[in-house]
Amino acid sequence: MSSSKVIGLTGGIGTGKSTAAAYLIAAPLECGRFVHIDADAISRELTRKIPGEDNPVLEEIGREFEPDPVLREDGSLDRAAMADLVFADPEKKQRLESILFTHIIAEIHAQIDRAKEAGRPVLLDAPLLFEAGLDSLCDETILLTADHDVRIHRVTLRDGSRPEDVEARIRNQMPDEQKIPRADIIVDNSGTEEDLQLQLDRALARIFTICD
Ligand code: ADP
Repeated sequence: MSSSKVIGLTGGIGTGKSTAAAYLIAAPLECGRFVHIDADAISRELTRKIPGEDNPVLEEIGREFEPDPVLREDGSLDRAAMADLVFADPEKKQRLESILFTHIIAEIHAQIDRAKEAGRPVLLDAPLLFEAGLDSLCDETILLTADHDVRIHRVTLRDGSRPEDVEARIRNQMPDEQKIPRADIIVDNSGTEEDLQLQLDRALARIFTICD
């Protein structure tokens, strides 16, 4: 049944994944609007320390990286220290991702099950869709791409990052050449936002029946 389809959405930094997600979740599908499952939001929530409450994910990360001080006195994650650590060492990045992916995937499963029970389609919005193997949960996957210089320009405009920092972040992600063969639908967002919307409309029409 098309109503419970899970559509994976991914793309590297600056390709327009967030812009595409905002457009897709507003789309009027015959089977109801998408339930938006946001892997980044789940990751942030799982690593958020609530004062007075245990956080087993943070405790696991703290144990894994001992004696590196990745947790603060209050048990919260020192995101800058963690980022420096994994940026400099691929093996540590893999260890962190292995802990996070396990918990994120469990939560995504739970959210997909709830959406399916409600008969709603799912937009699984995940920057690391392929890296985490989340594409195996999807009926269709959409990959956002854009020209390298366009990506850098848009991110510098969006958040004031330095071009060389955006370059470094792009280099730290899985290259598009590896993602393209795994994606069902490729959306090239090097053009205007109207151009992006047109391609997304076409993708939706391919997957669903659009109403009104
Ligand atoms: P991502 O989530 O992939 O990092 P965003 O969706 O945040 O990328 O897009 C990066 C920036 O570029 C944002 O400021 C967004 O508004 C802008 N943007 C996205 N698509 C286009 C487009 N087709 N034309 C112009 N600006 C765009």
